[in-house]
Amino acid sequence: MHKIHLQYGRKEFVVTVVTGDRKRLSVTVHPDLRITAKAPAGYEPEVIRKRLEKRASWIARQLEFFERFQPLPTERRFVSGETHYYLGRQYRLRIRPGKIARVRLIGRFFEMELPDPENREKTKTLMLKWYTVHAKDLLSRRLARYEPTFVRMGAALPEVRYRRMKKRWGSCSGKGVIMLNTELVKAPIYCIDYVIIHELCHLLYPHHDRKFYRLLERILPNWKNRKKRLEKVVI
Ligand SMILES: [Zn+2]
Repeated sequence: MHKIHLQYGRKEFVVTVVTGDRKRLSVTVHPDLRITAKAPAGYEPEVIRKRLEKRASWIARQLEFFERFQPLPTERRFVSGETHYYLGRQYRLRIRPGKIARVRLIGRFFEMELPDPENREKTKTLMLKWYTVHAKDLLSRRLARYEPTFVRMGAALPEVRYRRMKKRWGSCSGKGVIMLNTELVKAPIYCIDYVIIHELCHLLYPHHDRKFYRLLERILPNWKNRKKRLEKVVI
């Protein structure tokens, strides 16, 4: 077993290579971002390196894929009895007729009241509004908690936008704009903090390179567990 360092643009990949009784070279990128390769026993390290270099753009794409933390969307009907999540916990939706349209979290229930309880468009709108309001409040408070650490390291305060997104939890643009998915409030705080810190690290290091991970590791040593849990979050 040996390690090969591959340079790809500004990125560096470390590939753990094992050799054995096999005919061809194969490369695997694992969800925890490890890269391993299996090579035929007779291959010289330089030959292996050359072959790996040809796969570098593929490796980069695989890493991109695993680095992206995607939510698992499910079809929601917004009817009584349905399960909805808040901060990683399940709550049952209970819809009743009421004069004023409102949603409250009581015990293990999302208690919803509205004049027209059978109208699914309205129950949906009301529920999404509840999530948006709570998401903006909670996410901005979590951000405020971690921002000073990054400002001390030289980052400019980010401009933060909140949006309901299906495909990603968050992003950080090169111009320092952090976008957070309001659906994040369905995940445990533990995972929310991971996404926030991940995006804040991008203020200093825009790419998922070694410096980025070194910083993430320093601030959040157990980030991998948080990421794993986040991958199971249903929205
Ligand atoms: Zn990232």
